[in-house]
Amino acid sequence: MTAQQQHFVCVVCPIGCEIDVVHDGNRIISMEGSKCERSEEFVTQELVEPMRILTTTVRIEGARWAVVPVRTDKSVPRRLFPRIMRQLRGITLQAPINMLDVVVSDVLGTGADVIATRTMTRE
Ligand code: SF4
Repeated sequence: MTAQQQHFVCVVCPIGCEIDVVHDGNRIISMEGSKCERSEEFVTQELVEPMRILTTTVRIEGARWAVVPVRTDKSVPRRLFPRIMRQLRGITLQAPINMLDVVVSDVLGTGADVIATRTMTRE
């Protein structure tokens, strides 16, 4: 594969370094702009399979609000976000729900659980 140039924003820490990378598809040839070596693992993972924490909401009944915020408890492949969102749209929880309760375990076989990030009491 011929060399390509690509721009990344490192999400490993809050600094968010902007990194210009020359790569051949899955191997870094050179990179500029990162402030530490952790970016190398991040960029390599981005080239192979971008991974992110998914945050969204799920419907809930019997609580003060109609939805409860949730997130995956670890990064999952970003390409699976639409399928995970479809699965979560089909779920309606019943209050009460506690923060960190598992809403979906091992979502789509990723090994990640979808967990509630807020406690919702029954109203
Ligand atoms: S390159 Fe290092 S300092 Fe920059 S955002 Fe990534 S982890 Fe943080």
